[in-house]
Amino acid sequence: MQVGIPRETLPGETRVAATPETVKKLVQAGHQVRVERGAGTAARYPDADYEKAGAELADAQTALGGELVLKVRRPDASELDRMKPGAVLLGMLDPFDPEGLRALAGAGLTAFALEAAPRTTRAQSLDVLSSQANLAGYKAVLLATQYYGRIFPMMMTAAGTLKAARVVVLGAGVAGLQAIATARRLGAVVEASDVRPAAREQVESLGGKFIDVPYETDEEREIAEGVGGYARAMPAAWMARQAALVAERCKQADIVITTALIPGRPAPTLIQPDTVAAMKPGSVIVDLAVERGGNCPLSVPGEVVERDGVTLVGLANLPALLATDASALYARNVLDFLKLVIDAEGRFAPPADDDIVNACLVCKDGQVLRSA
Ligand code: NAD
Repeated sequence: MQVGIPRETLPGETRVAATPETVKKLVQAGHQVRVERGAGTAARYPDADYEKAGAELADAQTALGGELVLKVRRPDASELDRMKPGAVLLGMLDPFDPEGLRALAGAGLTAFALEAAPRTTRAQSLDVLSSQANLAGYKAVLLATQYYGRIFPMMMTAAGTLKAARVVVLGAGVAGLQAIATARRLGAVVEASDVRPAAREQVESLGGKFIDVPYETDEEREIAEGVGGYARAMPAAWMARQAALVAERCKQADIVITTALIPGRPAPTLIQPDTVAAMKPGSVIVDLAVERGGNCPLSVPGEVVERDGVTLVGLANLPALLATDASALYARNVLDFLKLVIDAEGRFAPPADDDIVNACLVCKDGQVLRSA
């Protein structure tokens, strides 16, 4: 197939959908790969390395005009104009945004949104949410260290002892667990909360303390189990009890990292403004949910702000701050997905009965297949 790798155009998007490593594999498999000049520059993959891997360097028009186009983010209107009807698109296409999907369908594409893959063992190697959230969780802790005027580990010095930082992590999914692990490695004392009961054991296995909000009804217990590994919105009574407990823990904390998300919905509010006001001056909140409305209403998307002496880090797209590794993992996820939809002769031949392929297929030949 003619495979196009365009440069990402969304402001701040430094990642690229294929690296020299994955391009080499595509070329070995017999594909003709065209990489837009500069596509990997922001992620520190030079054009020359793509050429060495067997790609042809091209302009945007040519890269977008491929039979198969590999992207990080959903193409905008001007990119869609340059794509060919009937082309196949792979990327993080925001499957819960019906308008965006209609635009892809309007361009006559067959499109796979990789974020929609099921969270199953077989899908692990192509799970873009996991590969990127893991890096985001790590980076969130490093950002916290940057805005925090103290150190993380307990340190005994000749001039006196410094106390270990207290870190609270809200949401112990992929990003939250990596945040816990990273904060622990730096010597912090860590507590974490999640709605899903399975999270307790994972938090504890990383040396964190689980903030327990007991379920009081069967309904609460059932909703907390979630669907497909994902959380569901909890009943108001449970959320109120959690808010009270979280407020208490946040007042004691130095760093709070929030990662709580519910697929297809705005992020749940976990830290109220009065909790921020009651936190210690110099504390830092890193809100990883900021792009979906935030877990704290005071977070400002794309900005670092200070409220009542507390620094709120609302920087978006943290994986893009680790563009080299984020691209390397993303590109391998993409390659693993391609193995499912390209046959031994190198033709696009998606199997009709594959749960991963069907979950990701959001548009086929110009028709939207997913009701968001
Ligand atoms: P996510 O990004 O959708 O959400 C982050 C976390 O926020 C989740 O753990 C969620 O339970 C939590 N959350 C939601 N509402 C909350 C609230 N009110 N308070 C506290 N926490 C709240 O989740 P994710 O990181 O994508 O992980 C989702 C699930 O998928 C997890 O169960 C994870 O273990 C599982 N998973 C499985 C695989 C696999 O088997 N292949 C791969 C990755 C993730």
